[in-house]
Amino acid sequence: MMMLIGGEWAAAAGGGVTGVTNPADLSAAGEVPQGGREDVSAAVDSAAEAFVPWSATPARERGRVLWRAAAAVRDAGDELAALLTREQGKPLTESKGEVLGFANVLEYHASVCGSLHGKTLDLQGMGKGLTLREPLGVCGAIIPWNLPALIMAWKTAPALATGNTVVLKPSSEAPLCCLSLASKLQEAGLPPGVLNVVTGPGAAVGEAIASHPGVRKVSFTGSSGTGKRVAGIAAPTLKRLTLELGGSDPAIVCEDADLERAADGIISARFYNCGQACTSLKRLYVMEPVADRLISMLKERVSALRVGDGGESGTQMGPLVSLQQQRLMRSFMDDLRSRGGEEASRGVVPDMKGHFFPPTLVTDPPSDARMLDEELFGPILPVVRTSSLDEAMELANGGPYGLGASVWTRDLDTARACAEGFRSGMVWVNMHLRVPVEAPFGGIGDSGMGRENGTESLDSYMEWKTVILG
Ligand code: NAD
Repeated sequence: MMMLIGGEWAAAAGGGVTGVTNPADLSAAGEVPQGGREDVSAAVDSAAEAFVPWSATPARERGRVLWRAAAAVRDAGDELAALLTREQGKPLTESKGEVLGFANVLEYHASVCGSLHGKTLDLQGMGKGLTLREPLGVCGAIIPWNLPALIMAWKTAPALATGNTVVLKPSSEAPLCCLSLASKLQEAGLPPGVLNVVTGPGAAVGEAIASHPGVRKVSFTGSSGTGKRVAGIAAPTLKRLTLELGGSDPAIVCEDADLERAADGIISARFYNCGQACTSLKRLYVMEPVADRLISMLKERVSALRVGDGGESGTQMGPLVSLQQQRLMRSFMDDLRSRGGEEASRGVVPDMKGHFFPPTLVTDPPSDARMLDEELFGPILPVVRTSSLDEAMELANGGPYGLGASVWTRDLDTARACAEGFRSGMVWVNMHLRVPVEAPFGGIGDSGMGRENGTESLDSYMEWKTVILG
């Protein structure tokens, strides 16, 4: 596939290409141009030129383009889902949900974009004033491989709805579905240059976007280390920044919880997308009196999970996205064993040469195990027994991340205490990993800054201008 610059499908200025591999069987899923600085410059120029007419287009008309694109994406849902599964590995049902999520995010922003306006101000004897809300200009979007379609929507929809133009860089592991989604937006009437997609390595394309003086904002989703680097690179040009970074979400299961419901919810929040979501449930703290019962329910469910090629029907968990992620998961298990820990149960992986890793349950890991400390971006679930809610909260709040957290209880006071006590941007009660577009989403600490979704994210794509009338 080609990349999209100024409304044209283009090869890289340097001529190189990068292959994309299907992680289930290591077959070729496609190839994309290996873009660089020159391509980013061309994309930013196109986006700057397109900004003038696009920002002057009535919001209602911008919304219509998003509605039409959403409808086209829904119509092509199966085909887009198959492409996403081929490059990323997730089961088709998850891919379809994600592609429809892309359409849903476009529709939400199309429906709210006509209602964004300033205020009139009574200036207490100094006359009247008003505020205008104006788009920023060219916005950069840098996205990861784990939920490429959904995260592309979280960044492009609010930017486009508010009259900005975009230069987007997908991850080299999963750029294909993003390019197809961009083509749906083009076909729906998005003018040339309003959305540009430049493929290529992070160190070249990502850094060129973050440092370009013509880019007014960067919205980055990825690991905390890369996010900090992007923030440093963007600082000299004083860009606005939204950073959606890593997470190590804890969950606490209380004595009074509905254990069947908790077990089902925990399994889906840990093993969805092969455990590769920023806000996957990554550490489980369970009250001692119900620990054995919950652990036995989890063991049963973990060993029953059907792992396989995401493209085959009935698959519940696909492979990891790459060899690098597979090695990372093995290193967590090696570290556990070196400290005297062991797995309690694991699923079965197919006899294929893809990057499979079994869904794995670890009970009572040593407290210094790396998996309790670092972001566990794969299908391993560590379970820690705790003797009080205070102890569980203290452990849950340990570490540098603060993305999501959940509590499983029937008691309203316990739920409220946890909601107030968790150090995180998101809290769920009796669920985890639900991220509706209507609700602001994001983290604190090493999980980043700023919010996506909801009307809160629209604020970050607009400038307030104050006019005082004499
Ligand atoms: P990553 O940080 O390696 O890459 C993210 C993007 O940044 C990719 O497009 C990559 O090419 C680009 N990049 C790499 N080096 C760069 C550089 N020097 N300058 C600019 N861009 C650069 O992350 P990943 O491995 O693709 O994704 C997994 C991570 O993303 C996990 O940590 C996960 O928690 C996080 N994530 C966070 C959220 C959230 O909303 N908080 C959502 C999904 C994923």
